[in-house]
Amino acid sequence: MNVAAILKDKGEGVFTMRPDNTLLEVATELASRKIGSVVVTEVGGFIAGIISERDVVRVLAERGPEQLSAPVEQAMTKSVVTCTLSDTIDELMAEMTARRFRHLPVVDDGQLIGIVSIGDVVKQRIAEAEMEAEAMRAYIATG
Ligand code: AMP
Repeated sequence: MNVAAILKDKGEGVFTMRPDNTLLEVATELASRKIGSVVVTEVGGFIAGIISERDVVRVLAERGPEQLSAPVEQAMTKSVVTCTLSDTIDELMAEMTARRFRHLPVVDDGQLIGIVSIGDVVKQRIAEAEMEAEAMRAYIATG
């Protein structure tokens, strides 16, 4: 199973925001869309950064609530790790575990086409395990 299978299941498309959106605007979108992170892009689609709920909490704790009106580019992670459609679920799990983050934007042909969260990875892993168990049960039943 790979990233293409995950996107086939959840669909392509990714919500993005601009570097000059405020932290309050980001927090509002995270809450209303029930998502954990937002990819920040420049005009033209170039990935400028990623901001997650952890960044919002950290910045508020370290710099205070007045940061809510500051631009997101002051709080986001600018060096973004991405994945491709052919990356396997095992590779994604290894990457997320090693780097301690839960989101990987998907880039294909230089374009941002989706985002995979740790929840998507776990869901796909469970589906795989259930299919394997079912195949094993069918095999035993025919024996
Ligand atoms: P998360 O676990 O996704 O909430 O993110 C934890 C931290 O890692 C935050 O500081 C994020 O900005 C950062 N982060 C999340 N995803 C990525 C990514 N794909 N590449 C680089 N940093 C990331």
